[in-house]
Amino acid sequence: MNFVLKVNEHFINKIITFYQDYKEKNPSEHILFFAKTDQVAVTIYKSGKVMFQGEDAKGEYDFWIALLNNKQQTQSIQTEIDYYYSSIGSDETGKGDLFGPIVVCAAYLPKLHIDYLIKLGIKDSKTLSDSKVKEIAKQLIPIIPHSVIILPNNKYNDLVDKGYNINKMLAHMHNRAIFNVIRKIKQTPEVILDQFTDEKHYFRYLNDTDKIYRKVTFLTKAESKYASVAIASIIARHVFLEKIEDLKKATNYNICKGASKQVDEVLQRIICEQDEDFIRQIAKLNFNNIRKLKN
Ligand code: MN
Repeated sequence: MNFVLKVNEHFINKIITFYQDYKEKNPSEHILFFAKTDQVAVTIYKSGKVMFQGEDAKGEYDFWIALLNNKQQTQSIQTEIDYYYSSIGSDETGKGDLFGPIVVCAAYLPKLHIDYLIKLGIKDSKTLSDSKVKEIAKQLIPIIPHSVIILPNNKYNDLVDKGYNINKMLAHMHNRAIFNVIRKIKQTPEVILDQFTDEKHYFRYLNDTDKIYRKVTFLTKAESKYASVAIASIIARHVFLEKIEDLKKATNYNICKGASKQVDEVLQRIICEQDEDFIRQIAKLNFNNIRKLKN
């Protein structure tokens, strides 16, 4: 994990003086100072944030926190997690949409792309418009090692009929996507998973699998805390929106996302005009919308 603190100018100068002998070439235009010892890398950003990485990161961080507290400058520090932490983020989409599949994406954020990603404006896909999701996803897909797992509607409906829990399906999809990414990058970084169930249940759902990736941190609203998860959420949403477009073209119905009134109207028409099997291929049959309309 990286450790980040925010300090005032006076303290920045102190930290720079302290690590002066280990100073290295500036890796980026956003960075004011960069130093590296055998145990720790210290990056001071122009924004006033100081990041410690490596084996001794926690020790160095604690040292400066203690020093800052001693000088009664606590009011000027604000500790925070490192948004661009190099990790695999994993997220899903489509759970709340009547039409279309469930899509899981795991994506690896490598250090070398961080400057580029800052410029792209990575954010939680829920806060972006569909066209923005598409635009950003198209730039991410060629450079970000990722894996997308799609659960089509007919398979989803079969599993629900068999009594499968949705969270169990998701756990298996995330675990598979994570392993696909690990295979691509040949590294085993920490995974940040946008929490849909607690840790205990997640691993219990995976009990019937041989290969389980365990270096996973579960966080709620993770897509707003880590860029890696935001990236996964954007790619997943992009793939989902494309699938919705495909369904629209293939069926000639005005298939749309969500579970709103507009969705109900389309569904009503489909129920009147098509048989059960048709609906099974394009919608999630356990949604209340369907039960309501059938009654
Ligand atoms: Mn999520």
